[in-house]
Amino acid sequence: MERKGLVNKFKRVLQEIKRHNKFLIVSHVNPEGDAIGSQLAFLHLVKMLGKSGCMVNADGVPHRYSFMPGSKKIITHIGKNVKYDAVVFLDCADIKRIGSLSKVVDLSKPKINIDHHISNVNFGNVNLVDAKASSAAEILYALFKYAKVKISKNAAICLYTAILVDTGSFNYANVTFATHQAAAGLISAGINANEIYRKVYEDVPVATTRLLAGVLSTLRLSSDNKIAWMYIDKTTLKKCKANLADEEDFVNFPRIIKGVEVAMLFTEVSPGKIKISFRSNYNVDVNKIASCFGGGGHKKASGCVINSSMKEAQQKVISEVKKHV
Ligand code: 5GP
Ligand code: MN
Repeated sequence: MERKGLVNKFKRVLQEIKRHNKFLIVSHVNPEGDAIGSQLAFLHLVKMLGKSGCMVNADGVPHRYSFMPGSKKIITHIGKNVKYDAVVFLDCADIKRIGSLSKVVDLSKPKINIDHHISNVNFGNVNLVDAKASSAAEILYALFKYAKVKISKNAAICLYTAILVDTGSFNYANVTFATHQAAAGLISAGINANEIYRKVYEDVPVATTRLLAGVLSTLRLSSDNKIAWMYIDKTTLKKCKANLADEEDFVNFPRIIKGVEVAMLFTEVSPGKIKISFRSNYNVDVNKIASCFGGGGHKKASGCVINSSMKEAQQKVISEVKKHV
């Protein structure tokens, strides 16, 4: 998106924030660093503007992100006592992404949509969507700057963590000059980048490593080696005493194999419900593939959920991927 269009969107979002007092701040199911960090940072922003907010997402905060200041305030159910006059969606390409919350959130309230997915359907009354941004947090960083709101050290920890995670530690193709500028600005707010890295990626529970060992043993490749995938079922999860959130980066293992163009991880999230994570290395647009199954995301990282058996999901998805590779 060109810069001028973006500035107008910052202006509109800020006007909308100023118009309301209490915000319901939501993000997607199975939240990762960008979802949690952006929710927390948005609350900082509105508080600095004299407003208040309540943060909620359907699955709560995964352990590895619980160090982020304020994360304990993120709730998973909206009680009747929770009042709000606008809903802010962060890192959500569409309303469905908030999962079961879509049945309880009052969607007749004004909706502010802040996101970086190419598949975003602009469902908000105000939409701040920039598919060139590495993360929702990178957009929020620019919003803080536009609003001339000081970024506290705690807010900086949340924004930095979010950017770190969505860029694969500043390694993915979504990293730009603006991403590094944001990181530098956040470091100047006094954060310890090395400590954040360690908190997110190290001190791994042994259950996660056991799960990884099990999942790696399921690796399969197409005959031309361009498609690689792995899967994980409930029995393996249980056996390893691991949680679904532990597998966040596993799909990178098939992705980094020489010659692989599309990598996938199939996860049985509940019986008959399979989540698929897609990653692309070169030109294949996995957002297009995921959207064939009702999902979406980015060109190089997307996801979807299919209601079928593991075997059937793999057959359907792999035959679709073959048409694109
Ligand atoms: P992951 O594979 O890490 O869960 O997700 C990769 C990207 O695809 C993320 O940007 C995520 O928001 C998006 N994504 C994952 N699952 C879904 C889905 O079921 N629907 C849509 N629209 N996007 C998804
Ligand atoms: Mn994101």
